[in-house]
Amino acid sequence: MDAVSSLSLTEFIRRLPKADIHYHLLGGVRLETMLDLARKYGVDLPESEARSYYRAYQTPGGPRKGGIAALTFLYSLMQEAEDYARVLLEVAEDAHHSGVKYIETFWNPSDVCLPYETVNQALIKAIAQSQRDFEITIRLIPSINREKSPEEAVAMVEAMIAHPHPYVLGIGIDYKEHQAPVEHFWKAYQLASRHGYQLTAHCSEFGLHWRNVETGIELIGVDRIDHGYSIIDNPALTRKYAALGIPFTVVPSNTYFLQQWPDHDTWCQKHPIRAMAKAGLNIIPCTDDWHMHDTTTTKCYQVMVEDLGFDVLSLKTMMCNSLAASWMPQIQKEQWTAEWCRMFDALYAALEDQPGDSAEDLIRYRREQTIK
Ligand SMILES: [Zn+2]
Repeated sequence: MDAVSSLSLTEFIRRLPKADIHYHLLGGVRLETMLDLARKYGVDLPESEARSYYRAYQTPGGPRKGGIAALTFLYSLMQEAEDYARVLLEVAEDAHHSGVKYIETFWNPSDVCLPYETVNQALIKAIAQSQRDFEITIRLIPSINREKSPEEAVAMVEAMIAHPHPYVLGIGIDYKEHQAPVEHFWKAYQLASRHGYQLTAHCSEFGLHWRNVETGIELIGVDRIDHGYSIIDNPALTRKYAALGIPFTVVPSNTYFLQQWPDHDTWCQKHPIRAMAKAGLNIIPCTDDWHMHDTTTTKCYQVMVEDLGFDVLSLKTMMCNSLAASWMPQIQKEQWTAEWCRMFDALYAALEDQPGDSAEDLIRYRREQTIK
């Protein structure tokens, strides 16, 4: 590690080794790459329209397109396997600059105009290159588009079973949850589980009822939950899942809550991430849609401290728990945890003002998670 004398909070967080286990590959497409892909395939895409997909360029009252619309549009622009390889390598490069060492990334095979194995092979090759070029480990989570049929989800899992690879660790589900709760997709989940895949699911996003989390855990048997904020509306289940240590990958930049409470102070106070932490749930901060949401893993951790009111040492807990919740082999998790904790402690000693210890309502989040 470089010699450090005095680090700002941003630089401290940037240098921390970090894992991001809720990351949508296409949410990490750069604006210039979207424009390049449109040019490549002769799609008329004015820059102003491309910018409307990216939060960094959205203005109140101006054109705005949601994350899901962006992903759907991007899949239509990615027509060759090399496009996926390019995007994965750019994701790795950007993540490397934010101190990320490990990503588990979602992609949606049913939205792709190419066979599963064609894209999967391109991604696997790009993963090997990103390990060499950027010292970052990336693993894949094919994810169900729940706006499509349960039968397409089964077909996705069948393709995974026909073409297994050690970099493909499990399945997820995303897109709009309102009409498509996770139980509709039980057959795909059961098939994946029977073939040794890990399971996660976007549940109770967009302010939807806590029963979607309950169904995901109790009926589908997921290993972890993506989002899951409404669980705090059910104190008994919250206590149960806190005791079980079920990981909840939470997203400070989640669009729903930003729109719900556009006033920054209200947003900070009411964000369910705070209540989830206070209730002892195992929360793991993640970026979700990196460029679309105008975030980075560094920013994500910084928001936890500067906006949501966690003390800096809470980040060590979250860092360790992100590894524990990952789907890497146990021996790798243990090795990384030991190394990353040493790095955290060295960087923490060099942090300039270890901020906020006297702040009112500071959350000191400490939650030992056993690696398994
Ligand atoms: Zn997501």
